[in-house]
Amino acid sequence: VTPHKLPSSSGPVDPAIIEDIVAANRVLAKEGVLDAFGHVSIRHPKDPNRYLMSRSRSPILVVADDIMEFDLDSNPVDSLGRSPYGERFIHGQIYKSRPDVHAVIHSHSPTVVPFSVSQVSLRPIAHTATFLFGGVPIFDIHVEDIGTTGLLVSNNKLGAALAATLADRPVALMRGHGNVVVGPTVARAVVRAIYTEVNARQLAIAIALGGPIKYISAEEALELPIPLGLERAWEVMKRTALGE
Ligand SMILES: [Zn+2]
Repeated sequence: VTPHKLPSSSGPVDPAIIEDIVAANRVLAKEGVLDAFGHVSIRHPKDPNRYLMSRSRSPILVVADDIMEFDLDSNPVDSLGRSPYGERFIHGQIYKSRPDVHAVIHSHSPTVVPFSVSQVSLRPIAHTATFLFGGVPIFDIHVEDIGTTGLLVSNNKLGAALAATLADRPVALMRGHGNVVVGPTVARAVVRAIYTEVNARQLAIAIALGGPIKYISAEEALELPIPLGLERAWEVMKRTALGE
């Protein structure tokens, strides 16, 4: 019997990258996107087949020493006694299927859940959420024929099914559960996760006001390669989150 071989580490990471993960956890917790649950990961800057994410811990409490390295099957490289998140398979499977993605956020973003269980589609109504234009797919764990009785993405098969539902989109809802938001950078993913929640809240209010809704149009939805002000927004969010 060959003993289980741990994947090898792809080496130490610039502390600024670790700081980004810590800050992203705190920012999203403060914004009410992450509660006691949910997680943020970054693809390893030196190896596309590894990603970095906190041990199983509430996002607001995450510190640098909590950050673990995983392979894309979500095996920890060196757990040092730390327990990983039960839904880490979401991250590994998305990194496998999306070479363009360098940050993944899974949250139970409260206002997106109603849009995952009703007939009303989550469409953008504000300029801050134009990335939602073109459709937000919904992953329904019980119609995927993947043999589950729960709602959690607790293995690689479920993670792969979720990644297939996400396809090439920035956001997918998870029915009765939350969402997954991805981006080419952690800043982009964090801002998208925040404005997905904000747009859901604003759309629910607009629907409650009554009458037809004027959604963002195709021309209005053209997203700039790097949205104006993104780095500026991320810098202030990061510093505030880290107490600087
Ligand atoms: Zn979850």
